[in-house]
Amino acid sequence: MNAHANPEDFDLYALGALDGEDKQQFEAHLRSCQDCRKQLAEAQAMSVLIGLTAPLLAPPPTVKAKLMDTIQKDRSAREAAATQTVLKPARRKAHWGLRFSLGFAMTTIVLALVCSWLWKMDTLHEQQLGHAMARLQKSEAQAERNQAAMRAMTRVMSAPDTVQVSLAHQAGTPPGTARVFYNARMGIVVYSGVISPAPSDKSYQLWLVPDSGAPVSAGLVEADQESGAAVAHLPQGLAAKAFAVTMEPSGGRPQPTGPKVLIGAVGSA
Ligand SMILES: [Zn+2]
Repeated sequence: MNAHANPEDFDLYALGALDGEDKQQFEAHLRSCQDCRKQLAEAQAMSVLIGLTAPLLAPPPTVKAKLMDTIQKDRSAREAAATQTVLKPARRKAHWGLRFSLGFAMTTIVLALVCSWLWKMDTLHEQQLGHAMARLQKSEAQAERNQAAMRAMTRVMSAPDTVQVSLAHQAGTPPGTARVFYNARMGIVVYSGVISPAPSDKSYQLWLVPDSGAPVSAGLVEADQESGAAVAHLPQGLAAKAFAVTMEPSGGRPQPTGPKVLIGAVGSA
């Protein structure tokens, strides 16, 4: 009667899986055996640990049977591992804690990178948008100027008091030909023409030669100013005697200094 309980009975009892006569015999032996009471205490501690670490699922009977079988077979192995099992959860927890903080740090770094990337993209987009807006405004301004020039041209061309002047090429200068439409009342000059390109350090400049006084600049004109006419606004009521194109230092001059390339007298057209 004093033979110790079956080794597997401790786990089965601790898990509440021992019943019937086996349970009665086991309990009867425990009352008289301190060693077995100690071993049951260990088994109960183990079962509590298993309960803490295992998923909280009620295993189906077949699984339970297999579990009991495994418990029986691995008894000694688990006994050896018992002390480790006590340490494991704490160690594992620490490990997870480290992993968690590492993961958290990584996430933070990734988020920071993504944020900085997004910020950069945003800045880039803002810059691009700014450039696009500037271009648009520039082209809008250009379009507005073109429209204004077109309107001025239309007004000048359709006005009965507009004079047309043909400008003739002058010997010894780049060949070219041009026409001027001038409305003194409006103070608008429309120039259209083609001249051989000027040297890079020179500009062509259009002048109104008044009945009296010094020539008045009507601005720079391009060598090829045929497809798009140049429109210049001058003081209103200026009586013109002639128009001339001179070759001036790049950017033009307040008064003509260079050779006359084209000249046309008003009333000669
Ligand atoms: Zn015993």
